[in-house]
Amino acid sequence: MNTDDLLQRLEELRAHDLPTHGGRTMAYVYDSGLADADELGKRALAMYASTNGLDPTAFPSLLAMERELVGFARTLFHGPSAVGTVTSGGTESILLAVQAARDALPGTADPVMIVPTTIHAAFHKAAHYFGVERVSIDVDPVTKRADPAAMTAAMDAYGDRVVLVAASAPSYAHGVIDPIEAIAAETLRRGLRFHVDACIGGWVLPWAERLGHDVPPWDFRVPGVSSISADLHKYAYTPKGVSLLLHATPYLRKTQYFASADWPGYTMLNATMQSTKSGGPLAAAWAVVNLIGDDGYLDLVRTTLDGTAALADGVEAQEYVRLVVPPDSSLVALETDGTCDVFTISDEMLARGWFVQPQMSFGDMPASLHLTVSAATAPAVPEFLTALAESVQAAVAAGPIVIDDELRGAAMAIDPATLDDEAFDGLLALAGLGAGDGEVTVPDRMAPVNALLDVAPPALREALLIAFLDRLSR
Ligand SMILES: *Cc1c(COP(=O)(O)O)cnc(C)c1O
Repeated sequence: MNTDDLLQRLEELRAHDLPTHGGRTMAYVYDSGLADADELGKRALAMYASTNGLDPTAFPSLLAMERELVGFARTLFHGPSAVGTVTSGGTESILLAVQAARDALPGTADPVMIVPTTIHAAFHKAAHYFGVERVSIDVDPVTKRADPAAMTAAMDAYGDRVVLVAASAPSYAHGVIDPIEAIAAETLRRGLRFHVDACIGGWVLPWAERLGHDVPPWDFRVPGVSSISADLHKYAYTPKGVSLLLHATPYLRKTQYFASADWPGYTMLNATMQSTKSGGPLAAAWAVVNLIGDDGYLDLVRTTLDGTAALADGVEAQEYVRLVVPPDSSLVALETDGTCDVFTISDEMLARGWFVQPQMSFGDMPASLHLTVSAATAPAVPEFLTALAESVQAAVAAGPIVIDDELRGAAMAIDPATLDDEAFDGLLALAGLGAGDGEVTVPDRMAPVNALLDVAPPALREALLIAFLDRLSR
């Protein structure tokens, strides 16, 4: 194939993806609506695609841009002594925060982290990767915010084993800000590290505060906050592959670094999990952040939060659906009154050009829909509300999806650890994800699949989806 053919093929492949622009994909992507920022980001990405952040002395351009980006964030988060690292995404920032915390207390035989149940699953991954036991504490059943008293009790119960406490500003699933000050007061008294996950809020809350929104303290101004993660590939509207991890002091960052001189090659010296890494995303982020700038983000956040308020009010005015909790920033979670199914609403929205993200039930929390509002969504909120009203009507007409008790009971009884490959093929077929022969498919309508997965215990759901992904990528 020649260049034109390949470019055409790339275009064709993209046609099946969710749209990245237009504000109607309300998870995964973020659209500023600023064509010049998008164009600049792409050019910077391409210009630096082949540079290597492995060695900052070999590519001083990357070091300079990283320092400037961290400098921008340090002012934004009020950390005069803070230092930071550009990472590949929120997950990498969180993995590094957990690893640095664990390794700062090398004598701890069975390290523990204390988190609210609403903490992002990236912390689960970090716990799994780094052998840190995760102690998840129930959030307030009404506000969905972390419970400082219960988290404090856990800090005392686990004592010397605790290497890290974390909370969100805001949480991904519900969009509410945890009581950072109250938790930080307790971590400070005990000399514990406290990470604030502002992956999604970091580029929203500083301007929300300036716009007069009621933003509870969450950044380095709160004594006891020791590190913050903030993703630039979310609300900084930069191309994918960039997040920041800031530590309150250089001392706190020390254990994040890794060096190895114990081999015949170059001395490996890394600040991140990646070693060779493209300078493209960093350069793109540097360019976009400087183009949009402080004033630009102020405008974008104003637009986004006005849009979020209009969307939330509009949801509250509709029948059969309601907010899980009033949003603290730009994320909205909605649930139904039981008359219809969120999974059917999600399918109906997709048919109308809107992607809204289903969230499975968890403990006492029913299944819900997650909506990330970006600046480009704001002008389309009236259309969103029309599509939602129609989708809810369709879902009410269809009625809630009922999983019969026998199937529910069977799902509860399965121990995924005992299943072999064939059993997974059978279960995937039962869930509507395959033909039972090892081939899997993504059905057009996901509601029946989601409703079935929703009754499966989390461990079974995880095992089934891993089996699905494995077959999808064979
Ligand atoms: C997005 C997000 C993450 C994970 O970030 P990735 O960039 O997807 O790896 C972690 N925490 C919160 C609150 C997030 O919104």
